[in-house]
Amino acid sequence: MGFKSLIVSSLYAISCGAIPAPNPLQAIQAAGPAAGITITKCSSPGMLALAYDDGPYQYTQKLADTLTAGGAKGTFFVTGTLYGCIYGQKTAVQNAYKAGHQIASHTWTHPQDFGSLSTADLTSQMQKLETALVNIIGVKPTYMRPPYLATGGNVLSTMKTLGYRVITDDIDSGDWNKNTPAQSEALFTSAGASGNGHIPLMHETYQTTVETLTPWLINWAKTNNLKLVTVAECLGDTIQGAYTNGTGNGASSC
Ligand SMILES: [Zn+2]
Repeated sequence: MGFKSLIVSSLYAISCGAIPAPNPLQAIQAAGPAAGITITKCSSPGMLALAYDDGPYQYTQKLADTLTAGGAKGTFFVTGTLYGCIYGQKTAVQNAYKAGHQIASHTWTHPQDFGSLSTADLTSQMQKLETALVNIIGVKPTYMRPPYLATGGNVLSTMKTLGYRVITDDIDSGDWNKNTPAQSEALFTSAGASGNGHIPLMHETYQTTVETLTPWLINWAKTNNLKLVTVAECLGDTIQGAYTNGTGNGASSC
């Protein structure tokens, strides 16, 4: 029996036999990070997790296409209603999901007082978006970023109950605060490419972030040998781990 046929017959034996018990270490790694704990950066060096909040909006498709063309995977923390109803960008969200970008939660309405909400209101914020995402992409997310990065009050305990991994950031691009792309770029240059990978705070609702900062970051990552991965993947999770099954309701409007 040659080496190749040995492998083939071994695979055959495995596929026809009982499903082997998973290696415990692999099972833990595949489970990804714990829910309800604030995560600011990747768990390993050599990567960059480009992450965008507040969409979907008119630039969602262009951003997904720009990332894909650059060999990058990005993460979209989307809301239900902040920049118009999520169903208005249904196709762009579906396309981003199908292209392997991560779709994650940024709540239904993006409340200004997120850190002060009751557990019931926090749960409602998360579950309304879950229902919409099941309607749009067929699954619900297991990663979220709190509006205004608010992790106080009932936020972490509620997210733990709901099974959400809570992501903030370790570099604030400041695009929301009128930073120009050049000013944002200087923040990345200053932070440098060593150490565990960055999870930056950016917003897909600014044309300059999509059309100027993002291409610069794709190039910056290449120059520094950083792999451009989703937030889930930068935390040792799989892209499949970014989602779980949920229940839709057939709605197509907010
Ligand atoms: Zn936001």
